[in-house]
Amino acid sequence: MIDTGCWSPKQQMGRRWSIGCVALEITQRCNLDCTLCYLSEHSEAVADIPIEEIFRRIDNIYNQYGPRTDIQVTGGDPTLRKRSELLAIIRYIKSKDMHSTLMTNGIRATRSLLTELADAGLTDVAFHVDTTQEIKGTTDEKSLNERRLKYINNAKDLGLSVMFNTTVHKYNFHEIIDLVKFFKQHANSVRTVSFQLQADTGRGVADKRDIVITADTVWNEIEQALQTTLNNKVIIAGHKQCNRYGMSLIVNNKVYDLFAESDFITKLHTATAHITLDRQRRWKTAKDIAVCLFTRPIYLLLIGKWAIRLLNLAKLDLIKGKGQINSLSFFPHNFMDACQLDQERLDACVFKTMTQYGPVSMCEYNAKRDEFILQPIPIKTEQEIKFWHPLDAKLYENIPDIQRQNPCQYPLKKLKGKVDYFTL
Ligand code: SF4
Repeated sequence: MIDTGCWSPKQQMGRRWSIGCVALEITQRCNLDCTLCYLSEHSEAVADIPIEEIFRRIDNIYNQYGPRTDIQVTGGDPTLRKRSELLAIIRYIKSKDMHSTLMTNGIRATRSLLTELADAGLTDVAFHVDTTQEIKGTTDEKSLNERRLKYINNAKDLGLSVMFNTTVHKYNFHEIIDLVKFFKQHANSVRTVSFQLQADTGRGVADKRDIVITADTVWNEIEQALQTTLNNKVIIAGHKQCNRYGMSLIVNNKVYDLFAESDFITKLHTATAHITLDRQRRWKTAKDIAVCLFTRPIYLLLIGKWAIRLLNLAKLDLIKGKGQINSLSFFPHNFMDACQLDQERLDACVFKTMTQYGPVSMCEYNAKRDEFILQPIPIKTEQEIKFWHPLDAKLYENIPDIQRQNPCQYPLKKLKGKVDYFTL
């Protein structure tokens, strides 16, 4: 029997948090056409859903998962949404005491936009940059580093936690080592590095992943780059086949595994599981942990011993590096192919997307995207409910016939950049 990790004491979901994160798609439009894109062929024809519906979905996320839930504000590329609306969405998430991450390819995430978003309460920015984007003038991952640097600078000193996403496919697998070295070099600015394994879903033209790409082989490449092992079995998020997570400390360019002592980390996590690790209120988090531990002196002793061992190990580098320490987390994510969804993994999913019907596993949503995005959406007006149509953005008195058919089967007819699917 496969060990799913779901019932392990190392499992975080249901202990520290109720969900890993929830995607909130605020547009289906994108300014790229990646070879591995999870959007559907119909996405570009879909109008941006009304902001009232976005707010309703944010309320639903709050009601379902509670305060301090991480919301990925995504799309398409969310920066294509009207700027004032994007800002209003971030403000609304902040007003509900939840965290927002802007998921963007970075092209329109200018310094001025990120500054305004940070002021509005944005918590994190995640830049997705890789060779599937086929950006003009770039040939490999290395040639995209200049762009990555530009994005890092755009987000610098704004109080945002910076993440990078990379889709791993057969033509860039061999570049993971150099890529990790690049992120390590910029660990003072980058907090999290996520590798998303190629999945056969959406409109992308590349389909099944190469046999060499697995969560384990990707992790091996990360470790080779860091020249040390990183324990990815201490923090389990959802199903073991979905996620790996490890955290490194970088001192004087040398990497130390923060989770090397598995038993100690598990005990610490169990003892502090009720405390929210709030990235925006680090002092409050530290205070909550300190208060918790002072009531359990045995843990203070364990932490003291662990800290001494770590300091001893890193002392020379600490001196040479003048005490500077950076942390860098690694997070490979193993999305499923649309035709190979595993119910057990869907049931344990820690990464949902909020639809008009409620939260749905991201893998399932990507596999059935059209069935969600082509549905009319009920919108409450002052006295009545009307139905907003995703293809012409008009409000109708009644549900159009489209809802009674399978949206995947509509005839498509491209007309000068617009798509005319049917007559209402
Ligand atoms: S989105 Fe898919 S791969 Fe990710 S946690 Fe959910 S089921 Fe697993």
